[in-house]
Amino acid sequence: MDRFAAYNGLLATSKYFKLVCGAGNEDCEEVRKLAFVYTLAGCNGFDVSANPNVVSSCKGGIEKALDFKKRYYASEKSKPFITVSVGMPGDHHVRKAYILDSCVKCNLCIPVCPTDAIPNSLIINEKLCIGCGNCEAVCPPAANAIRYRHNAKELSRILPECVIAGAESFELHAGVPDDSTTLDEWKVVCENMPNGMVSMCLDRYHMTNVHLIDRIRMAKNIAGDRLIIQADGIPMSGGTDDFNTTLQAVSIADIVNKELIKKDLRFRKLPILISGGTNTHTGELARQCGVSFSGITIGTHARKIVSNDLTAAFEGDEVALNNAVGAARELIVKNLGLQS
Ligand code: SF4
Ligand code: SF4
Repeated sequence: MDRFAAYNGLLATSKYFKLVCGAGNEDCEEVRKLAFVYTLAGCNGFDVSANPNVVSSCKGGIEKALDFKKRYYASEKSKPFITVSVGMPGDHHVRKAYILDSCVKCNLCIPVCPTDAIPNSLIINEKLCIGCGNCEAVCPPAANAIRYRHNAKELSRILPECVIAGAESFELHAGVPDDSTTLDEWKVVCENMPNGMVSMCLDRYHMTNVHLIDRIRMAKNIAGDRLIIQADGIPMSGGTDDFNTTLQAVSIADIVNKELIKKDLRFRKLPILISGGTNTHTGELARQCGVSFSGITIGTHARKIVSNDLTAAFEGDEVALNNAVGAARELIVKNLGLQS
């Protein structure tokens, strides 16, 4: 079976789990370690930044896991797919925070940053920033000191380099209202992955339900059967592991199911990945609510549960490895409803 068919097979059986390393995460070492641990845990896919070095690091982590003496749940047959994420200006996933001179040095932003991107010097480390907005949320209104830069990538140059480095799928974060510019970028994404799956990630910050469904129709006209929709509840909101945090992620998937997949035969097989606020409870909530999905993608929560053991696990410390792979495996099993 070729890789395209294998990918489709996973989606068709709702057995796809993707770890989001962070569209803005350019920390190659962290990505390599995450890919190693999560491949051993039986993860099927990784979502990484549009940077050939990051893609290579992810591939390196996967290969190290497949060569590892104790493979845990990894197998050549279920070798994970690498998806590269790019984003439209204005989409949360591809922005980098910086601090203005109006900062009053209250330091409230330092502990809320999930990636430790804000040091005591208050000069944000762009490589670590994933654009989540936590710092902005706590910054006092009188200071209003957080702003963002779009992490601009020139798609037609960077995407082919990512394919050479090992990318097998692309994703466009398109949670912005402008259809025409988004579809221009979408065409470039599709053209650069002619034989692979292409995903459009959408949320409802700037789009009504009607607009969301219209956008998916437009995306399919260009991508055809290669289209995946990543339904993003609240982007990068998965820090807390409870049902409420994952409610919107399941809700947006429900809208796509009800308003498109069940109403229009052409979309009956449209794969939906649930994301944005995903955690241990996402799969269970979706199953309880009767919301169909093809896969689940988790970022913040999935990275958090292995963070204490990640480096030692990567270096082969058996206790740390058992801890990290065990935690990652449990997350996958619970979400996909697998036998442990
Ligand atoms: S809190 Fe989020 S947006 Fe702010 S610096 Fe950290 S990662 Fe970037
Ligand atoms: S929360 Fe705002 S004002 Fe306080 S240190 Fe951070 S950027 Fe400066």
